[in-house]
Amino acid sequence: MRVLVTGGAGYVGSVVAAQLVAAGHEVVVLDNLSTGHRDAVPPECVFVRGDIRDRAAEVLSDGVEAVLHFAAKSIVPESVARPEMYWSGNVGASLALLEAMRATGVRRIVFSSTAAVYGEPERVPIPEDAPVRPTNPYGATKAAIDAALTEHARMHGIGAVSLRYFNVAGAQDGRGERHTTETHLIPIVLQVALGRREAVSVFGTDYGTPDGTCVRDYIHVADLAEAHLLALDHCTPGRHRVYNLGNGTGFSVREVVEVCREVTGHPIPVVEDGRRPGDPAALVASGRRARDELGWLPRRPGLAAIVADAWKFHSAAAGAGPAAAHAGGGA
Ligand code: UDP
Repeated sequence: MRVLVTGGAGYVGSVVAAQLVAAGHEVVVLDNLSTGHRDAVPPECVFVRGDIRDRAAEVLSDGVEAVLHFAAKSIVPESVARPEMYWSGNVGASLALLEAMRATGVRRIVFSSTAAVYGEPERVPIPEDAPVRPTNPYGATKAAIDAALTEHARMHGIGAVSLRYFNVAGAQDGRGERHTTETHLIPIVLQVALGRREAVSVFGTDYGTPDGTCVRDYIHVADLAEAHLLALDHCTPGRHRVYNLGNGTGFSVREVVEVCREVTGHPIPVVEDGRRPGDPAALVASGRRARDELGWLPRRPGLAAIVADAWKFHSAAAGAGPAAAHAGGGA
């Protein structure tokens, strides 16, 4: 199948693009390289540099049958500081993409949604029918796009799947997380191990969690990517389905730091800091629906294995090594 991957130069998008190519799909990547990296795009893909608003209709009309939509702004603290950029870049661009799909008759879409739509959940693990109450603009924009997909399925016969990611980490085949300004926990901790930072700040130690720090559900990017290929086969016209993607196990910030110490052999000093605005205390997925309906089972669920793959990627990218040549990243 010929598919469009928006944001295919970013972290998750590039790993999915590589898996799509490996599965025999023809892949067109559309990315404006605002946060992505050209060298993360698999060489077999057609690459179009540009904005969705300008280029989506033209790319879709060239035989594309389905869209995997990753292009987005995805940093929670940045969204708190600059909400307008998130409403325009995420919601505005996604509505333009849906308009281009309507105009060209492309009826299947797999969308990168997020656990951040749930905000402060009433209970964990979180099922897909938990209330949508985001606590930050990033989550609010993704929730708005999910709602638009529901309406497009109902009124325009589009088959849509939203995949709500929990905390993605790790790397595959030299494609990993590489943001210009890093805000995510695991890459920051690994920067300490690489000697690029003195210490990790732990944002909030007074949450109602066992050790007082935030709890998250970390999922390997390769497992997450595999769910997209399954989702592509579950885009049923007129239907919008939502799936949570996580391992169903929560790790606190302190536990993540401890696992990183074990994997890297570095002492990784921590500094206790205040809460970061917009952070829910605990986000852990119920993966039952994805398992039952998509047949998705994470194959790399252990946090040590996830961190080990991230560490391999970051240490290679920092020095010489096979991963350095293909280092990818971005939102
Ligand atoms: N965090 C932290 N120090 C950092 C970066 C993140 O304590 O330098 C915490 C953050 O407050 C959150 C958790 O680690 O509770 C995961 O944050 P991340 O930004 O990786 O992902 P998010 O859950 O916000 O998508």
